Formats: sequence, C-alpha cells, structure tokens
Amino acid sequence: MRVRFWGTRGSIAVPGPGTVGFGGNTSCVELTTSGGACFIFDCGTGARPLGGKLVAQASKPISATILLSHTHWDHIQGFPFFAPLLVPGSRITVCGPEESGRSLRDVLSRQMDFTYFPLEIGQLPATITFQELGEGTYEIGGARIIAQYLHHPAMTLGYRVEAAEDANRAK
Ligand SMILES: [Zn+2]
Repeated sequence: MRVRFWGTRGSIAVPGPGTVGFGGNTSCVELTTSGGACFIFDCGTGARPLGGKLVAQASKPISATILLSHTHWDHIQGFPFFAPLLVPGSRITVCGPEESGRSLRDVLSRQMDFTYFPLEIGQLPATITFQELGEGTYEIGGARIIAQYLHHPAMTLGYRVEAAEDANRAK
C-alpha cells in the first residue's frame, strides 16, 4: 500500500508560506493498494489536486472509493472540485457514516445546491454510488474496510483498510 497526504488542515484551507511544509489544504488522504485500487479518506480541499493527478495519469475512466470520516465542511468541501467526477465513465463510490434523517447523498447534494455552487450533483457525468456505513466490516472496492466510531462532535467513523497484499505479508 502507498499513502499520500493531500490535505492535513482542519476547519479551512490555509495556503501560504507558513504551511509550505505540509501544504495548506484540508483533509484528504490517498491510499493505493498494490493491486491498484484507489481509496480516498475524506474530501477536503486536498481532493482538488488529488483529482487533477488522477485524471492526468489515467488513460481510462477512474474508479475510486471515497471514505468520509464525517461530513463537517473541511472534510467535504473538495468534493465538488474532484475532477474524476467530471469524467464520463468514472465510477466513484462515496461511503460515510449513516445519520438519522438525512442520507449521505442528500448531505453532499446540499453543498452543491445552486445557491452555493454552479453544478448540481445530478449533473456530474461520473457514476456516483453512495453507501452509508455503521460500525462493522465491509468489502468495498476490492478491500476489507473496518469502520469504527470515533469521538467527535458529529457522527464520525475511522477506517482500517485491509487488502490482499497485507494478508499475504502477514502469513
Ligand atoms: Zn469535524
């Protein structure tokens, strides 16, 4: 597995000379398994440069799984700017904690309401699938995802990803 941090800030993006070391974008971490599966932890503003990289290096539509820890703004504000969503044929699975009363799709759609953003979620050409998770173990995107609730002032999940290469290495 290979992990790359595209955004490490909380609350709001903070570009500038003071954040050159680790960048100024909000939460977004890329995990690529040795089999090539792409997992993205949170979709803060770091999702914009990550999406640009994925589109630039891909010769075909992109498949990726986004695992949202929670839907506070700094963890979703890069979603509308994630370039693979604009690529026809791309398949993006968005997972996040289930909340009572509102679906994950509804939460992400609201930040793309025309009052706030020029493109609505239904206009994105990629195929977007939503999967709401609770605490437990799931098979998603070719890997085993273990989700566990975290202490935070919102419904929040932490994730462990187990892919085949790790199981082989453990033997
Ligand atoms: Zn938060």
